[in-house]
Amino acid sequence: MNAITREDETQILDSIQRWLDKDVKPHVLRLEHADEYPHEMVAQMKEFGLFGATIPPEYGGLGLPASTYAKIVTMISSVWMSLTGIFNSHLIMATAVQRYGTEAQKRHFLPRFAAGEIRGGLALTEPDCGTDLQAIRTRAVRDGDDYVINGTKTWISNGIEGSCFALLVKTDMDVQPRHRGMTMFLAEKRDGFSVSRKLEKLGYKGLDSAELIFQDYRVPADCLIGGEEGRGFHHAVGGLELGRINVAARGVGIANAALRDSVAYAQVRKTMGKPICEHQAIQLKLGDMATRCEAARLLVESAAGAYDRGERCDMEAGMAKLFASEAAVENSLEAMRIHGGYGYSKEFDIERYYRDAPLMCIGEGTNEIQRIIIAKQLVARNPA
Ligand SMILES: Cc1cc2nc3c(=O)[nH]c(=O)nc-3n(C[C@H](O)[C@H](O)[C@H](O)COP(=O)(O)OP(=O)(O)OC[C@H]3O[C@@H](n4cnc5c(N)ncnc54)[C@H](O)[C@@H]3O)c2cc1C
Repeated sequence: MNAITREDETQILDSIQRWLDKDVKPHVLRLEHADEYPHEMVAQMKEFGLFGATIPPEYGGLGLPASTYAKIVTMISSVWMSLTGIFNSHLIMATAVQRYGTEAQKRHFLPRFAAGEIRGGLALTEPDCGTDLQAIRTRAVRDGDDYVINGTKTWISNGIEGSCFALLVKTDMDVQPRHRGMTMFLAEKRDGFSVSRKLEKLGYKGLDSAELIFQDYRVPADCLIGGEEGRGFHHAVGGLELGRINVAARGVGIANAALRDSVAYAQVRKTMGKPICEHQAIQLKLGDMATRCEAARLLVESAAGAYDRGERCDMEAGMAKLFASEAAVENSLEAMRIHGGYGYSKEFDIERYYRDAPLMCIGEGTNEIQRIIIAKQLVARNPA
């Protein structure tokens, strides 16, 4: 468990807020609508150490606890959610190495990840399966000191700009249960590893989502995370709690942004001779939106606290992810109603919140799956 003082946390959050106000906010609309990768912001995020936010200091990172990390993610998402995807999936890859890697892997990769020198993400999903990860077909076959990998991964965040991915494959196609045949590698781009296309999407612009092809791609056996075959599913699932806390924090950020903009707009927009915030119909919306924001924030704080204490928190992270993502969807739609026609305009931020929010319901395990996880944990923790 990591710990930092309240003063340190305040200092970090304040400097990120200043950066958001000065260097991010003025450029978001242009980059978003051009679907342009924010190279300058990425360089600034490197300087802040965000690519090593949760990596322990002994490997060059900031070693922030999940609770502080979640606050950072919320703040950034309330300005431009896409930015958080650039360092989050990267940090989930780093978490896999940190938790399950050999000491040699940690020493080799973590300082480079922390410096943002090597950036990347998580390559799990395939064209035929996302939720049912055990059905993946990308295959690794041992050949001397290497493994040879063939297969296709899709929807991979940072797929074009990133250079290294935690790649989930099958090393045994027949073993039962299926997860015993799954293994995770650190796959760096070289011959045999190519990007076949950039995927166009509704929101989450600026960040590159790509399809990756592995064709007789050779990876040295010492890039197998933990050095032992058959542990890949465990490694992939092990990063999901932090991943879900992060997605929940992004949901809070979007929900907060929708509320913030609505409260401001409702005070200046007038109809029937008074600001719309004085109409009860608008007050009901603002009241519900603010309550959702606060409830979502508290769920994230509670899940992150449990994570930092080293407690099992799949149910808590699932609840936070489920509630905060739905809050983002509901608040962004309500913000659009409050803004009337301007909510639908590309000159305002509201339509972006509305496009970005639904992704929070899909990523890191869909909300249908979160409900199932919560229910299973409820039963397991409360035996009859
Ligand atoms: C913008 C974006 C970025 C992404 N980034 C990454 C990334 O970086 N790395 C990566 O590996 N993947 C990434 N993904 C993929 C994402 O994780 C998957 O889309 C997600 O896991 C859902 O899988 P699927 O799309 O195959 O849907 P499916 O698994 O086909 O699910 C379809 C529907 O069926 C429901 N469903 C499925 N199984 C069950 C069940 N057992 N019970 C009840 N309902 C069920 C689902 O909830 C969903 O509603 C990204 C996706 C998007 C859109």
